[in-house]
Amino acid sequence: MSDCIFCKIVAGEMDTKFIYEDELVVVFPDIRPKATTHILITAKKHIPSLYSLDEHDTRLMGHMVQLLPVIAKQLGLHSFRTIINTGRDSGQEVDHLHFHLLAGNLPKFG
Ligand code: 5GP
Ligand code: ZN
Repeated sequence: MSDCIFCKIVAGEMDTKFIYEDELVVVFPDIRPKATTHILITAKKHIPSLYSLDEHDTRLMGHMVQLLPVIAKQLGLHSFRTIINTGRDSGQEVDHLHFHLLAGNLPKFG
């Protein structure tokens, strides 16, 4: 999607420094961190939200979930929170699938 900021980041057009990259995802710091550590595990494929997933995305989703603790360990984190916003009222502002990985200074939730 030519007007999608995360597609531009995935394509390397934004000078964003990747913490990790493989054939399915890129991982980079959030530009406006909401916690001491705040990174985004982002699909390379343009998927607007969880509502847009289809059966072909099962491997991608499993891969993204399995990457979370791997990345967290690499960052030396013992605890972390994962968020996926879906829809405007949830706070989703970028319509390109990504997991937030947050740690440090987190308000209690749940
Ligand atoms: P959402 O609100 O869609 O769940 O999450 C989008 C996140 O992307 C926000 O936390 C926002 O700060 C971050 N973000 C938006 N534009 C950019 C950008 O150009 N670069 C980076 N690194 N993060 C961005
Ligand atoms: Zn996109």
